[in-house]
Amino acid sequence: MSVRVVLFTADLRLHDHPPLRAALDRGSDVVPLFVRDRAVDAAGFAVPNRLAFLADCLRDLDARLRERGGRLVVRFGDVVAQVCAVVRDTEAEEVHMAADVSAYAHRREERLRDALRAQGCRLHVHDAVTTVVAPGAVTPAASDHFAVFTPYLRRWSEQRPREPLAAPRRIRVPEGVGSGPLPERPDPTRLSPGLPAGGESAARKRLTAWLRGPVAGYADHHDDLAGDATSRLSPDLHFGTLSPAELVHRARRAGGPGAEAFVRQLAWRDFHRQVLAARPHAAAHDYRTRDDRWRTGADARRDVDAWREGRTGYPIVDAAMRQLRHEGWMHNRGRLLTASFLAKTLYVDWRVGARYFLDLLVDGDVADNQLNWQWAAGTGTDTRPHRVLNPLAQARRFDPDGAYVRRWVPELAGIDGPAVHEPWKLRGPGREAYPDPVVDLAEGLARFRRARGRD
Ligand code: FAD
Repeated sequence: MSVRVVLFTADLRLHDHPPLRAALDRGSDVVPLFVRDRAVDAAGFAVPNRLAFLADCLRDLDARLRERGGRLVVRFGDVVAQVCAVVRDTEAEEVHMAADVSAYAHRREERLRDALRAQGCRLHVHDAVTTVVAPGAVTPAASDHFAVFTPYLRRWSEQRPREPLAAPRRIRVPEGVGSGPLPERPDPTRLSPGLPAGGESAARKRLTAWLRGPVAGYADHHDDLAGDATSRLSPDLHFGTLSPAELVHRARRAGGPGAEAFVRQLAWRDFHRQVLAARPHAAAHDYRTRDDRWRTGADARRDVDAWREGRTGYPIVDAAMRQLRHEGWMHNRGRLLTASFLAKTLYVDWRVGARYFLDLLVDGDVADNQLNWQWAAGTGTDTRPHRVLNPLAQARRFDPDGAYVRRWVPELAGIDGPAVHEPWKLRGPGREAYPDPVVDLAEGLARFRRARGRD
């Protein structure tokens, strides 16, 4: 009996899984393998919130495989060495895995291909498993990637995503393949208390519930901070417990302007992946340098601490930062305005903020996080790179009654209506427990404009 290995990475599901389908195609035995990659820990990427979600995902994947006669094989260490060891022990002929976009993923693929070739085993890398459209599948005439979203969206929308594949019914794992234990969730004291549960089963329930109702209001309410009217599927997409191609099919079947607006957001995800695939350096370096000389030193450090702790004195910024700490997740509008506040109003290097987000976000993702941060800092793909989001204007527009602020900043919960956005104008209970603004908005704006040569 021939044996094939399926290496799961950011695709922890059984539904719509092309590598698994290809491996099962000719009735082979299959080793479903996940390697807890030491390099991910060394890069500081294995943070408690994501490790907890990952542990849920692996437990669920193992359970779903067992229902089908299989099991998950888990190893820890160097991913290449571990895959090669499994291939050697099982005399596997092929390894199947999903393509990925980061510089690290490219290196992993190359190392794996070389090492497996030396063992007489073929590596098959499948496109469009973690994206709807593969990076590089659509390009403009004169470049290897799109640098502007709107023309990308046009071309992206013309592509027809693959028909989703059903989950396999039976999986046979060869006898005697050793597995380490499934990873445990980290100690709860290290986790955000409001963290969601991971795993394909939970993800599919979330998706069904989303498409049954709330998606219809998405176009009108996705920016309403208090309404919390977005899908919250980002961790499921990050860990691949949901297939983005299946999401597009099911959303389009649901139909309506809400579903179309939702599909458009999935195009943003692919957009960032095709930028990162073509410019892997953009994970750590300006995509378009503005020759920034970011603030450093004691004052800047004090401002960063206030920003991290949700004590900047701007309630809308602080509410969003406290949501991040509590849930390991933040509303997109919150991400935009807190990132603009740090990188532009406080004029602190976007990498400082991006790192903090990656430390907490359960959906923390190199492509989406780093490139959205660059967008917000004006060093990325934003076509209006020097605009600055005014937190008060944002608050009035996206939290008009102040309900979002009252939810996350308990010191201000006693203040009714939109007055909660400007506590410095008020006296009374709670006011003294809340800090004064760390920066005057007009001064912050002037500093940024000077730095960018726009004064
Ligand atoms: P919905 O509004 O329901 O959108 C559906 C899906 O579309 C999301 O789950 C996500 O996969 C995708 N999507 C939506 N907006 C974007 C976007 N701007 N860029 C890329 N994909 C998008 N998203 C992450 O998944 N991981 C991150 O690390 C991340 N960091 C961010 C950092 C900053 C500074 C900003 C401004 C945005 C970041 N985003 C990130 C994008 C976006 O904020 C989140 O994807 C979204 O808030 C997740 O909530 P949701 O699932 O309810 O989104």
